[in-house]
Amino acid sequence: MPATTPEPTTPDATPRQRSVLVTGANRGIGRAIAERLVAGGDKVATIVRSGGAPEGVLEVIGDVRDTASVDAAFTQVEAAHGPVEVLVANAGITRDQLLMRMTDDEFAEVLDVNLTGAFRVVRRASKGMIRLRRGRIVLISSVVGLYGSPGQVNYASSKSALVGMARSITRELGARGITANVVAPGFIDTDMTKALPEDRQQAYLGSIPAGRFGQADEVAAAVQFLASDAAAYVSGAVLPVDGGLGMGH
Ligand code: NDP
Repeated sequence: MPATTPEPTTPDATPRQRSVLVTGANRGIGRAIAERLVAGGDKVATIVRSGGAPEGVLEVIGDVRDTASVDAAFTQVEAAHGPVEVLVANAGITRDQLLMRMTDDEFAEVLDVNLTGAFRVVRRASKGMIRLRRGRIVLISSVVGLYGSPGQVNYASSKSALVGMARSITRELGARGITANVVAPGFIDTDMTKALPEDRQQAYLGSIPAGRFGQADEVAAAVQFLASDAAAYVSGAVLPVDGGLGMGH
């Protein structure tokens, strides 16, 4: 069947109340994304391990490391909001360690959440999107995925692999009205970065052309665009939100 060509739209013209799923929306970047999409009128749900989702977001306790848990969470979200039309794979962890000291577990754990976790939710969401013949997939990567970072061989590997994932999804499902893109945040002020030693934070600050760290809502704004009808012809892209740190990669 030939691909359909939707009418061009303006960025804020996404009139439907879409079923949106953001993983890890109880804090940080995921929370800001969920809040923005709720404010835009979407029905937003989240999968989190520990609870604490923002007002107006359907919270489902689950774990992206577990296929059965992901499946059960989707079933719950679909029953409440309908098939997921916008998926934001945001849940992520770090286990920083220098290469020669990094254990198999530290490497595998990060890959399991950041990469395989994204795969699990994308695979589950794709079924409904294929049936709907539309969908928006946004994978939250990191500037570190393409820039590299000492002590983050596990994390950077997981984040760069999301680019290959989005581009392969684009090639596989692009003709079905489904887009898959990557947002690559730089240094954003959240719990994850607060955990970094002060000297590392200062070193990053010195190399960011914008001269400041980013806010979670600045990442959310980029996600909102990629999730909108206006971004129907954007797929397989990496959108940096990093104050210029990665120079567009
Ligand atoms: P936080 O550490 O603040 O939040 C991480 C989120 O992921 C939490 O909601 C957490 O839920 C969830 N999560 C972790 N493991 C799992 C799991 N197994 N199953 C379900 N949910 C899980 O991180 P940020 O907001 O800073 O980061 C969000 C994303 O953005 C991550 O992918 C991160 O790699 C990426 N990023 C962040 C940057 C930054 O500067 N902060 C820069 C670049 C990328 P719970 O509380 O229940 O554990």
